[in-house]
Amino acid sequence: MKELVFATNNAYKLEEIRAILGDKMHILSLNDINCHEDIPETAETLEGNAALKAEYVFNHYGKDCFADDTGLEVETLNGAPGIYSARYAGGEGHDSEANMTKLLLNMEGKDNRKARFRTAICLIEGGKEHLFEGIVNGEIIGSRRGGEGFGYDPVFVPEGYTETFAEMGNDEKNKISHRARAVEKLCEYLNKK
Ligand code: IMP
Repeated sequence: MKELVFATNNAYKLEEIRAILGDKMHILSLNDINCHEDIPETAETLEGNAALKAEYVFNHYGKDCFADDTGLEVETLNGAPGIYSARYAGGEGHDSEANMTKLLLNMEGKDNRKARFRTAICLIEGGKEHLFEGIVNGEIIGSRRGGEGFGYDPVFVPEGYTETFAEMGNDEKNKISHRARAVEKLCEYLNKK
């Protein structure tokens, strides 16, 4: 079976993609290839960061691989927090409560609540790069609602829905999410082979 590295150790993301690809392909994590380095994400775009991570694996381990990067892009904040979504409130990052508090403060009194989640995936296959994008449009509400999901889910309502991502739960969210859409495009490409 063909092997492909997913440049992540996020168990949730690994399970999602393995379920979609079935036995078409053997997906390896960074742990599986003994890569324990902190891969730099120093680019200025989501595509750039996804490419940096995929290139790192390809250059150091010589394996076909793909990597993803996601950001929340708020229209009235000129696309912020974007590539800084994980560490919007500063520090090491991944403090979702602090990130949401800062976002809600910055959105206070704003009429334009439009936002989108965007995921970029970079696949390197035989040294050639391919990009895939997934977007879900929606809006930022005034205060948190719901207890599921992660990150900015409690303040994001996708277009055409009344519930936040954190209220609808993972099964429903994963049918329409930015990451699901980008992963679908990647899998469509891989399944065609
Ligand atoms: P990553 O590139 O998947 O690590 O995502 C970067 C950051 O974007 C995360 O730390 C979260 O703050 C935010 N984020 C990514 N995906 C989601 C999502 O599905 N819901 C809410 N926040 C997300």
